[in-house]
Amino acid sequence: MNETTIEALAKKVMHWCDQLAAISSNPENISRFYLTPEHKRCNELVAQWMQDAGMETWVDAAGNLCGRYEAQNACAKTLLLASHLDSIPNAGAYDGILGVLIAIAAVEQLYKNNIVLPYAIEVIGFGDEEGTRFGSTLLGSRAVAGTWNPDWWTLKDRAGISLQQAFIDFGLARENIHSAARDPEDILAYLEVHIEQGPVLEDENLALGIVTAIAGARRFAIDIKGYAGHAGTVPMAMRKDALVGAALGITLVENIAKEFNVVATVGKIECGPGAVNVIPGHASFTIDIRSGDDQLRDQAFAKIQHELDAICMSRNLTAAWAEIHNAPAVVCADWIQEMQASVLCDMGVKPYKLMSGAGHDAMAMADICDVAMYFVRCKGGVSHHPDESVTEADVALALDALSRTLEKFSQ
Ligand SMILES: [Zn+2]
Repeated sequence: MNETTIEALAKKVMHWCDQLAAISSNPENISRFYLTPEHKRCNELVAQWMQDAGMETWVDAAGNLCGRYEAQNACAKTLLLASHLDSIPNAGAYDGILGVLIAIAAVEQLYKNNIVLPYAIEVIGFGDEEGTRFGSTLLGSRAVAGTWNPDWWTLKDRAGISLQQAFIDFGLARENIHSAARDPEDILAYLEVHIEQGPVLEDENLALGIVTAIAGARRFAIDIKGYAGHAGTVPMAMRKDALVGAALGITLVENIAKEFNVVATVGKIECGPGAVNVIPGHASFTIDIRSGDDQLRDQAFAKIQHELDAICMSRNLTAAWAEIHNAPAVVCADWIQEMQASVLCDMGVKPYKLMSGAGHDAMAMADICDVAMYFVRCKGGVSHHPDESVTEADVALALDALSRTLEKFSQ
């Protein structure tokens, strides 16, 4: 793609992001949720852009917006380029959205230059990734992957509207949901562009990164029991202070995460009885531990558990562990990562690889095809915040990288 076209299209993508930012249920900020009137308006506007880029468009049985750019051969497989069009409340303008719009710009470039590829391209704007309205994430991509869970129909939003009712209100039918599922045989691969949502690329002074894996997360609730007592009368050596046990546990989490090169967080802690003059008799806290390598993550967790149990034993405390979440890591396909690395080398960009600590639609799609992702640097690593920011120059680089990657795929 020549420079002027890339630059012009990158400018257009930035303008599109601004236009979508104006479609919100809250006039004060960006809030666009699944199966709402804003979702519908967003789909209509983006469908227009897809059509202008030479695509045939439709809204699938789950409310996802789809645009298809045909191949030379009608029997050819399809490369899916996708991300999500929904947002959290008070969101930024780029999370998810940027990936859909860069994909449309890449197809527009093909269309305007009369280039037809040996495979078809479908751009999908997933209706729900964030899970803001119904509390369950990845509804859009789960429908496309054919892993829709019938239990979801009774999920309710804050107004008490069930997912089933929201489908009807949106003009969709529950009984058709399975038609949103794609046949894995027809799919060449899934490729997603997304803002990094972290500070690593900025720290490396790089606009783009190749995602190696989407971290698998395990979450635990730990309950430490000691014995409450008078803060003035019980000597230090005779205490069973549950909060001190928890505090040592939190330090362990940090140290062991660094040792194993995983990320682990204690995001919540409570203790009781909770008075200035009472030794805490119980303390509970959570651990969220993630890695692109499940085995490494599990080893790190095992060490945390082993050492915290030993601390509790030595302090006459007991620790009860409950696992509250366990999702395996999703590894991005080596063969696509190799293509991405050669694309970045061709562009004179260092092919930097990094793990995604956040979840993405690619996780759901990995159930039915090989997946890969490009990350785009975002200012300060900030996301899920109105300050979310990307530069037009970085968007141009991402678009160039995506276009060059399309050239490398073959049927
Ligand atoms: Zn996202």
